[in-house]
Amino acid sequence: MDGASGLYLVLFIVLMVILVIQMVINYITSKKKAQQQEPPVKFITSISCINNDYRIERDYSEGDFVGKIVGSCPRCGSPLVIDKIFSITIQQQRK
Ligand SMILES: [Zn+2]
Repeated sequence: MDGASGLYLVLFIVLMVILVIQMVINYITSKKKAQQQEPPVKFITSISCINNDYRIERDYSEGDFVGKIVGSCPRCGSPLVIDKIFSITIQQQRK
């Protein structure tokens, strides 16, 4: 029985080592994730003609709000209205 219990002890130690390694890997990866938190976000203002024949997207600028008239349509002359403001995540280019 001594040989069997010795084998179990080895298995137990191996299991513990694997658990510890996993914990260390988890710790390192979570640390990396914490550093990568809050990716840069950019706000985009979507403007469309009330006749839906023209649409443009530009960077959000202060004072923009949905429903605001920001000009006239270059195609039909109708008012251009901000129809939505949304955010996009800027993809960081990795080299
Ligand atoms: Zn138009």
